[in-house]
Amino acid sequence: MAWEVTRTVRVRLDVPDDRKSDLHATNSKFQYCANRTADWAWRYPDEDCVTSKSEAEDAIYDDLREETDGLHANLVQKAIKRATDDIDSCVDRLADGENTSKPEYDTFSIVYDKRAATYYRDKVSLATVNGRVECEYDLPDDPGRTPHGEYLLNDSYPFSTSTVHYDSEADEFYLHAVMERELDVDSPEKAEDSKVLGVDCNVNDHIAVTSTGRFIGNADYLNHHRREFEKRRASLQQTGTRSAHLTFQRIGDRFGRWSEDYLHQCSKAIIEEARLHGCTHIAFEKLERIRERISDGKKFQQWAFNALQMMVEYKAEEYGIVVDAVKPQYTSQQCSKCGCTLEENRDDQHFECRDCGYAANADYNAAKNVARKLALKLQRGQKSPTGGAFCQYALKSGVMTVNATEVASDTPVSVERESTDKPTPLGVGS
Ligand SMILES: [Zn+2]
Repeated sequence: MAWEVTRTVRVRLDVPDDRKSDLHATNSKFQYCANRTADWAWRYPDEDCVTSKSEAEDAIYDDLREETDGLHANLVQKAIKRATDDIDSCVDRLADGENTSKPEYDTFSIVYDKRAATYYRDKVSLATVNGRVECEYDLPDDPGRTPHGEYLLNDSYPFSTSTVHYDSEADEFYLHAVMERELDVDSPEKAEDSKVLGVDCNVNDHIAVTSTGRFIGNADYLNHHRREFEKRRASLQQTGTRSAHLTFQRIGDRFGRWSEDYLHQCSKAIIEEARLHGCTHIAFEKLERIRERISDGKKFQQWAFNALQMMVEYKAEEYGIVVDAVKPQYTSQQCSKCGCTLEENRDDQHFECRDCGYAANADYNAAKNVARKLALKLQRGQKSPTGGAFCQYALKSGVMTVNATEVASDTPVSVERESTDKPTPLGVGS
């Protein structure tokens, strides 16, 4: 069984001075394609929006190619994909009754896969509207255990589709290199004796809740800080003076560091919990569900969840703990005790099973489902002919073993071994 491990490494690009304008011109045309696609595909509220990349390509790819003479064919496709992907998440939000509007593209960000870029360990060759440009990476003198040394320079991490960004303050270009590696964990000691910690992430209340009943971080506190920061930023932006501009940047940096530090604390608590229970795996939900739940400040939330999961992955590696994501369907509606799946089971923060009457904090119930999903997935990956594999997931008072019958039918567990199954809030910094 193989897990995909993804790392994003940010590295400054050494762009020759006389080629910077080519990258800017490329970005303008890329943005143009993304905006044109959004204009075409966005049909709310009169009609359904187009969320299919191939449908958009069939309709406007040829026009866009003509209108952006010199832009690499693959970049046109990537711009179309970016817009249809974004519209797809907008449609999710509209379905959830949330406010959203047509995506607009005005910041520098170009998506490069291996057709429009050639990635090397020390440089990248990027397609521009004026031929290719080769940019060396600005690497630390001693990359060692930095992300550059561990991933960018590590041949076992191939490059995946990455993005190029521009920092206008510093007049510098950056590559956000996405490195993907298949991690083989089919070794018996990892798959047979696996024990999973499930984690449910949230935009309100606690940031993360584990299957062992640990409540981590405070999302409301994080959101409150962000709103305060946005307010100050808005008032400084109105002032418009140079000193206001400098303050604007400074509080931006400070907020960035503060929130990153806060999430670090949360990721540490998750790792602590996994180690405390001797877990071999940590399970998260795939981010798409979280994306659907996000309304206000969606970009920030998305960033925060992503950052938290990456921090956990990074730290988990040190302890040989594998981090994996499971499909999010029904984790919030399903009873972790009897498996009954009903929308009515969940009422905001409260979960109460209509079938067996099991009642718990809704996120805690979800975290247990997340853990079981990964345990089932691990079990299925077993090739043991005797079916003697044990995949367990950690609970507040002990573990739950997923057995072969349950695996075969994917029906949920019917026996709960917990006795003192009441969550105790243990918050980071609260
Ligand atoms: Zn139940």
